[in-house]
Amino acid sequence: MGLRLTPVKKVLLITLGGTISSSADGGTTGVVPRSGADELAAQLAPWLPHVQVVPHEFRLLPSPSLGLADLFALLELIRSTEDVSGIVVSQGTDTLEETAFFLDVLGAGTHRPVVITGAMRDRDTPGADGAANLVAAVHVAASPQARGVLVVFADRIFAGRTVRKESAVHTDAFTASPWGALGLVREGQAHLPLSASPAPTLPVPGLPSDLPAVALISTGVDDDLRLLPGLAGFGYAGVVLEGMGGGHVTAGAVDAVVACDLPVALCSRAGTGPTLRHTYGYPGGEIDLLGRGLLWGGHLTGVKARLLLLLCLMHGWSGEELRERFETIAGG
Ligand code: ASP
Repeated sequence: MGLRLTPVKKVLLITLGGTISSSADGGTTGVVPRSGADELAAQLAPWLPHVQVVPHEFRLLPSPSLGLADLFALLELIRSTEDVSGIVVSQGTDTLEETAFFLDVLGAGTHRPVVITGAMRDRDTPGADGAANLVAAVHVAASPQARGVLVVFADRIFAGRTVRKESAVHTDAFTASPWGALGLVREGQAHLPLSASPAPTLPVPGLPSDLPAVALISTGVDDDLRLLPGLAGFGYAGVVLEGMGGGHVTAGAVDAVVACDLPVALCSRAGTGPTLRHTYGYPGGEIDLLGRGLLWGGHLTGVKARLLLLLCLMHGWSGEELRERFETIAGG
């Protein structure tokens, strides 16, 4: 009987920093990202006998310091990488959902899976979750079942489009509520019985030297949103407004919304569930606001809508074209 060998798959591990790469510096100033992608990959090797992990330390930043230029550079690296079965990106969890949404909307996972992960506990903390998340992410990236941009966290597999960070502290910080996870990782295997239906994507815009700025504003009880009309004067090119409930502002804020001379996208501050379109008829309700020309935020949270509006503005879209492009992705 001949020898049956399992072929070794190659997975590129792109590290960007974050808690998963962080440890203390011996002082009292807290943990910071530190170099060590090679070391990280070497530690994982015993758990991944059939995968060759190729580490690439691309950035060494806390994720709030990652900028759009970093995300475009990451996209370019992913698009130009050949000869790997899959790609894992490790980064800080604070903005992980934005990276996932950005890469997914721009089609980064079209030819092979791109799997993003991170950690909630740094390398020096008991019960550090980084290694477990990385091993799971590599299993998914090497799986023939995996498609598109995915996020793997605490053994769950999420669609990059719908995932979000729900807890500031827990190790199972990510959810895709109300849709749920696509699958899980167990015993060294990715189980993906569900697949995300292909969501609409955008062409990749060119990177201008001067990026448009989009403000993200949340509103609440008795807020008249008096800052909205002044935003254009600060150089903003668009606004995402996180309304209360299904996408509502106080009746007293409607004049300020109308006086804002910028594209305004309407989302819900609730975090789960779409922005409504046809339910509430009172002043400041979603029917009123959308009737006044606001863009419908669909299923997107404010942070994702902000990225989408930025990308649309980078394409130079305005008026009905902007609405059509934005709402197709937001509702997709
Ligand atoms: N503040 C860290 C970051 O996003 C949090 C983390 O990685 O979990 O870089």
